[in-house]
Formats: sequence, structure tokens, C-alpha cells
Amino acid sequence: MTRNPCRITGCHGTAINRRICQKHRVRARLYGDPHATPWATVEPLDVEAVVARQAKPDGLGAASRHEVARRLTALQLSADEIARILSVSPRTIHRWRAQDRTTTTAAE
Ligand SMILES: [Zn+2]
Repeated sequence: MTRNPCRITGCHGTAINRRICQKHRVRARLYGDPHATPWATVEPLDVEAVVARQAKPDGLGAASRHEVARRLTALQLSADEIARILSVSPRTIHRWRAQDRTTTTAAE
């Protein structure tokens, strides 16, 4: 079986049609834009900065923290490391990951 990567930059999902994954297809349908997120307050530049520095964010909102956690997870960091970087409990990271698994595996 061929795995076609989602065309959205930074997404590790598998494309199911129109070269985007289920998650982004849903976003495109709900928000009219596959890049849209349910968390309107995510600031992409802040997320990039934190992911690049892997350092504690200053004044990063909860939604952005979740996005950073997702990106760091993709970089194979452990939940403990991510929790330390974001100053949240490892339990929070596990909860976020569980949420993300629910939304991404529903399509497969
Ligand atoms: Zn995607």
C-alpha cells in the first residue's frame, strides 16, 4: 500500500484524497481552508520559535502550547521532555497526544 504524504507543510498525515489527509480535509470543509485550525489563537511564528529553540515559551497560549507539543512529538521528543519545555505536566502531554490520535486515526 502506498502512503501518500499530506501536502500540508509539516503534516505527517496520510493523504486520502486531493493530496490532503483526513484531518486537513475536515478543516478545509469546516473552515474553508486546510491550514485553519480549531484553535484560532495559535500563533505559527511563536510555535516555530519554540520548536526551534526547544525552550520554555514566554506567554504562549494554551492552543499554541498544544501545537508545539504536537510538533515536538513529531520530532520524537519524549512526553517528559516536552512537558519540561512547555512547563506543563507530562500527564497533559499524554492527554494531548490521546486527543490527536483520536482525530487523526479516525480516517485510517
Ligand atoms: Zn494533513
